[in-house]
Parts: sequence; structure tokens; C-alpha cells
Amino acid sequence: MKNYAIVGFGCAGYHAARAIRGADPHGRIAVFSDTGQPPFNPMLTTYYASQRLSLEGVFPFGTLEEVERELSLELHGDQPVLRVDARARRVETQAGGEDFDAILIATGARALVPESLRQGGGDFFLMRTLADAQGLRDHLDSHRVEKAVVVGGSMVGIKVAELLHRRGIQTTMADAAPYLFPLAAYRSTAEAIEARLREAGLKLVFNAQVSTIEPGGVRLVSGELLEADLVCLCIGTRANVELAANTQVVEGQGVRIGRGIVVDERMATDCPGVYAAGDCCEGIDLQTGKTAIIGLWANAGAQGDCAGRNMAGLPARYYGNILHNITHFFDMDFIGLGDPRLPGQRHLFQGKNYTVEIALEGERLNSVNIFGNYRISGILKSGLTKRLLDGGARLTTAQQGLLRAEGMSADFVELIGGDRAL
Ligand SMILES: Cc1cc2nc3c(=O)[nH]c(=O)nc-3n(C[C@H](O)[C@H](O)[C@H](O)COP(=O)(O)OP(=O)(O)OC[C@H]3O[C@@H](n4cnc5c(N)ncnc54)[C@H](O)[C@@H]3O)c2cc1C
Repeated sequence: MKNYAIVGFGCAGYHAARAIRGADPHGRIAVFSDTGQPPFNPMLTTYYASQRLSLEGVFPFGTLEEVERELSLELHGDQPVLRVDARARRVETQAGGEDFDAILIATGARALVPESLRQGGGDFFLMRTLADAQGLRDHLDSHRVEKAVVVGGSMVGIKVAELLHRRGIQTTMADAAPYLFPLAAYRSTAEAIEARLREAGLKLVFNAQVSTIEPGGVRLVSGELLEADLVCLCIGTRANVELAANTQVVEGQGVRIGRGIVVDERMATDCPGVYAAGDCCEGIDLQTGKTAIIGLWANAGAQGDCAGRNMAGLPARYYGNILHNITHFFDMDFIGLGDPRLPGQRHLFQGKNYTVEIALEGERLNSVNIFGNYRISGILKSGLTKRLLDGGARLTTAQQGLLRAEGMSADFVELIGGDRAL
């Protein structure tokens, strides 16, 4: 009987467990989690914090008992793994150590908190874990909050700003970047979104480098104080790679770590028998061909699934993904596909209620911004990914029909691989 260890039980860990069980009905799957909760969806934290979702709603795969039974797991809840000895394939917790045939590291990511921001002595909230969401929810229920500052014009920041704004709190979003969503949006699209947000009553401050968080609010490097009785820090994440960093590194067998744990198409690290998946790892970015963290729910699931199959001896490959964000906020949709920092000839298409901006490098679609028409995003993402994977550049007749039905012009359809005559 084979012995598997999964460290971290989020989206990636769950999908790995399911894949292993599908391939190996009799193997022992030991799952180590530091939470004692069922696998949880961090995307839903803001919905839970705003009371739009019940506690059960944040656990997409069911209760711990249900998951344990469904997959016949041996659960070690509330047992953070302290060390992984990659060469010996050994997992160590406070309860002791044990050797395994294959280990998956699926420890996800944590909210980024630069130490310098703590120097001002002010409290702040984060938005990554269920405890973060619970903390904000409890605070809003028990305190009178009039002014809030959200630091970070990120996809998470905008969701937090929305929930505070909906509660009637005067909310300011501050970011060091010159415009909103700088890693996903073109400036022009970002400015169109900013105009709508300001209209809705959100205060936006850009080029605002934060110095510290103080009891009275957020102090900028310029000296200005953005007054607040509640601050939430949403400036990004850091991969939880420390376990891998602590692995016993043997020349030629060490686990490589960049911003995340580096893996190949099988989700294998450089150390035989040790795999990584989800937000803690760097898989292939299809646009650059290099490894990068693509911190997305579906990506973590697909990587976990691939790792699980390989751990159980079923050869599987995950060819990679592209950067993308699909976010709904303040009754608007923004979708960013691909990396807007890549070069390309820019084309702008505007309809009554939408803006679509694309960058084409020759025939290659490098990046897409969609503001207000989320229904076309699936076709564009699959078109973009398909071109990168197999060079297939043409849209199917059905895809073209759908784009036209959604109001996209013949010029647009032709530019991205359609046929004007259709
Ligand atoms: C507010 C918010 C909004 C988001 N919105 C979107 C979105 O719109 N679309 C999208 O695709 N993605 C979104 N994401 C990202 C998405 O949630 C993540 O990409 C996904 O959850 C990653 O799954 P994971 O399993 O890799 O990591 P996680 O879900 O972080 O799970 C890792 C688990 O490992 C545990 N762990 C860590 N260290 C140890 C240890 N030493 N021992 C044992 N256990 C450990 C952690 O506690 C955690 O339970 C959002 C995230 C947030 C926070």
C-alpha cells in the first residue's frame, strides 16, 4: 500500500486528494492542515464578511466529515507541518515525523504585510483566511465605523472597499500605483472603471505610497494622513514556501524556490517524490514559457489534480495557464486576460455598455481588458490559451456567432481570428 502526504488542505490539496483516491483506491492519504477546517474558498471571504454568505457557504466541498468519508482520508487537522525533509520524504509535525512515498506541498499563500507598516502602531485587517473574514465581520457588527481606508487597489481591495461602502462607511482606496488594477488593466480601461467608482461614492487616491498605519489612519510617505477608524491591507500575497525552503537541500536534489516552489508540467519539484500545487508554486506561464505564480482558484484545482495523478503513478501533465482576473464589484465586471505589460498593437472597441481593449503582436493576442461584458470572456480566454498551446488561431463559427450576438463588431471578430464573411 502506498503512503501519500498532502500538506495544506485548500483547493489544491483537496483536488490532489481526490485525484489520488481516483487512481489508488487502497492507498493511505494523510492530510496535514493547520486549520482544522474543511477546504475553504478564500474567494468567498468578502461575501462572508459582508454577511451575504453563511459559514457553510465558504466550504465548497462539504464538511470535514463528508470530505474525509468521500475520499477515505486520514486527517491531521490543526497540525501545521513544521518541516519537510524532501530527500527522506519525511513530514514533521509537533506530534513527530513520518516518511512517505510521495508528498504534496499545497500550502497556498498569505496576505503580504511589510514590517515597516506596523511601525505606526495602528491596527489593520487582512483578507485571506476565514479568520480574517470573521475578524472583520465581528468588528463591523460590534463597532461604529464611519471612515475606512483600504490600502491596495487590487482585486481583493476592491471587494473589501465594496463591502465597506455598502455598509454606508465613507471608504477611501489608496494605492502607490498611478491607476487601478495596474497588473491587469490598461490605464484607459482602469480610468473608465475609476470614473464609475467615484460616481458611486468611493474615494480613490493613487500614487499614494503608504509609510505606516497609525491609530488614526494611514500615513503616506508624503506626510498626509488618510483618516480612518478601520484600515484593511490588501496589497498582495506571498507564497507559503518556508516548508520547502527548510527542506534538506542536497546538491542536484534540492527543491528550487523562486517566488514560489518551482515545478514542472507534472507539478513535480526537482526532488523526486515531492510535488507542489496551487498558490505556493510556480507553474508554467503560457505567455512567457517561464515559471510564475498564477494565484487563481481553478488553476490551483487543476494543478492539484495533476499532482495527485502523478503521485499515484498515473502520468499527467498540466501545460500551464495565463494570468487572468474576472471580478465583479459595484455592479460592474472587469476581466483582464493575459499580461498587459506585454507589447502589442492596441485596439479599442466600445459599445453602449462595454469597453474591450486588446493588444495584438502580429497574430498573437497578448492581452485583453473587458469592462462590462463578461459573457465574451470565456471565448477570448479559450482563444488566447489555444493559440499559445497549439497555435490554433481561428475562432469556431459558434464562437463568432456568440461574439456578434454580444454586440462585438465584425472588425473585432476578424481581428481576433474570426471570418468577416460569416
Ligand atoms: C479575497 C480573495 C479573492 C479572490 N478572488 C479570486 C477570484 O476572483 N478568482 C480566482 O480564480 N481566485 C481568486 N482568489 C485566489 C484563490 O482563492 C486562490 O488562488 C486559491 O484559493 C488557492 O488555493 P490553494 O489551495 O493553493 O491555497 P489556499 O486556499 O491558501 O490553501 C492552502 C492551505 O494550506 C494551509 N497551510 C499553510 N501552511 C501550512 C502548514 N505548514 N501546514 C499545514 N497546512 C498549512 C493553509 O492554512 C490553507 O488552508 C482570491 C483570493 C482571495 C483571498
